[in-house]
Amino acid sequence: MEPKKGAKNPSICEKCGEKTVITLAYGPHYFCEKHFITFFEDRFRKTIRKYKLFKPKEKILIALSGGKDSCVLLYLMHKYYSKNNSISAIIIDEGVKGYRNNAIKTAEDICKELKVPHTVVEFKKEFGITNDKLMPLILSNPKLGGTCAFCGTLRRNIMNKYAKKFKANKLATGHNLDDEVQSFVMNIFNNDFERMKRMSATSGIIDHEGFVKRIKPLYETPEKEIIAYAAMKGIKHYSQECCPYSWTAKRNEYREMINNFENRFPGTEYSILRFYENIKPLIRPKEKDKPKLILALHECKNCGEPTEAELCKACEMINRIKEESKKSKNEKKILSNSNLTQKYNKKLTCITTKGS
Ligand code: SF4
Ligand code: ZN
Repeated sequence: MEPKKGAKNPSICEKCGEKTVITLAYGPHYFCEKHFITFFEDRFRKTIRKYKLFKPKEKILIALSGGKDSCVLLYLMHKYYSKNNSISAIIIDEGVKGYRNNAIKTAEDICKELKVPHTVVEFKKEFGITNDKLMPLILSNPKLGGTCAFCGTLRRNIMNKYAKKFKANKLATGHNLDDEVQSFVMNIFNNDFERMKRMSATSGIIDHEGFVKRIKPLYETPEKEIIAYAAMKGIKHYSQECCPYSWTAKRNEYREMINNFENRFPGTEYSILRFYENIKPLIRPKEKDKPKLILALHECKNCGEPTEAELCKACEMINRIKEESKKSKNEKKILSNSNLTQKYNKKLTCITTKGS
């Protein structure tokens, strides 16, 4: 059969006629290495312009985990913006023996290589607890909520506090297209309209001096392409194993479901993202309602972070865990109950370390 007039030839790069090394089914696009890299980097910069993520001269703090997303983010921010912006990184040590130490080492190495100033902040120093202590207690007590929800709340608290401390104008995270689409679908399934309203390439629905705006320059970049880009560019990142507590995350189920759809019907993820962008103006608070939202905020009695309640979510969670820990008659038994983490699935990638 004759090929359709104007149809692309899958075996040759659509830009230069060299051999195709990567196919992006949603386009479809067929690229050689050089033209995939150009396509990838152009989209990254376009997202920054389109959503006005930051301006020249602004100070950007990057939340670096050592995984592929944040390492690619750091690399690109450094490559394109370090002349006009001050770029630094914060690395959070949640206290997960083995896994976290290795990822932190990788994160520090890439900062040293690129000469990006960085700071490591530990859960232990900030909250007096590590994930290795927290998680068995949470896993054995479903009333306390999910492991990653807990960990994410503590991490967001640290990120915001340190972004203010370093006088950063923006805090950049490695959230990618897959993360955002998963969050959107999760919010529908959980009927979490409040959380859905806050989703965006920039965080939050109000401007408040107590919050440093979080930005997501990889908002429109599919995860698979980040993996391909990191491999092609030889960007160091940690991928050997993921957090032993990640198997509990409900998000893993959504990830699998959406990946199946994307594989069968390429472009599904972009459709979902565009749908969200279309409804966003309809569901976000009106300008006239914002002052009321700002007025409702005050400082957490314990740590000073902005909150609507007496204590911020992180301090409230830490208090709850301390109480539960006291209450549990046989704390030692719970904390050493290692089979709680044995459902650990090596095939998972750590998808929730970004504080979403
Ligand atoms: Fe925290 Fe990520 Fe581990 Fe969940 S998977 S507990 S968010 S480090
Ligand atoms: Zn607090």
